[in-house]
Amino acid sequence: MLSFDVEEYFQVEAAADGGTRPQQWDSFEKRLAPCVERILRLLSDHDASATFFVLGWVARHERDVVRMIANAGHEIASHGMGHAMLGRLAPEQFHRELLDSRRLLEDISGRPVVGFRAPTFSITHETAWAIDVLAEAGYKYDSSVFPIRHDRYGVPGAPRFAHLAVGPNGGEILEIPPLTLRVMGVNWPVGGGGYLRLLPVCLVAAALNGAGRLGRSGMIYLHPWELDPDQPILPMSRLARRRHRVNLGRTDAKLRRLLRRFRFTGVAEYLDTEAAGVEQAYSYGLKG
Ligand SMILES: [Zn+2]
Repeated sequence: MLSFDVEEYFQVEAAADGGTRPQQWDSFEKRLAPCVERILRLLSDHDASATFFVLGWVARHERDVVRMIANAGHEIASHGMGHAMLGRLAPEQFHRELLDSRRLLEDISGRPVVGFRAPTFSITHETAWAIDVLAEAGYKYDSSVFPIRHDRYGVPGAPRFAHLAVGPNGGEILEIPPLTLRVMGVNWPVGGGGYLRLLPVCLVAAALNGAGRLGRSGMIYLHPWELDPDQPILPMSRLARRRHRVNLGRTDAKLRRLLRRFRFTGVAEYLDTEAAGVEQAYSYGLKG
């Protein structure tokens, strides 16, 4: 599976940490549309399809980007409204974001929105209530849990492939985690973003092949701004800037190599064509 989190370069968590506020977003140069156009061309050249998790802010301020993706036949899903990590939202606010973003995206695309990805993979044991809220809001799948250990996010004990996520109040939703490589009993992130930019593409390919050998599909994720090495540099800590900018100039070539080697589809298409692994359930409300 292939996915893109559709947001502007100034909306990432590292920029928020560096002092960039949502009230300033309108004053930045928008760079999303040409990046998305290039991605759509790449996908069409390689006969691939993908899921685009679009931020509600983008749907509100750059409607044509959503239209362009939908017209190219790709799945539109929700990335929330304002890119707040779930730890900063109350369950009622999150529920509202799920409804608002879905209505906006469905109005523009004319198609049902059934999938969600939280900003910065922020469903963890602490925010597991979000699984109950997603189920209650009628979403069909979620892709917000990274089964790794990380300073910002992650549930290291969560299953590596599609499974049934169970919330603390018993809500259930299909969970599609991003791709990891399991080495020495530990899950290593390889499936997208800075990891994909940093690591040799053969490692990503090895993880995808490993998934295939288990009869499962891996999930790759990228952001349009990762194909834009000329984006302005925003205030960030040194570590955050390195994570944000590492190998931006190589994303395009790496994505091409993966597209040549593997057949990619969006999540909805995967759910239609393969056993999605719902026989495995994992309770996120319980630590372990
Ligand atoms: Zn995001």
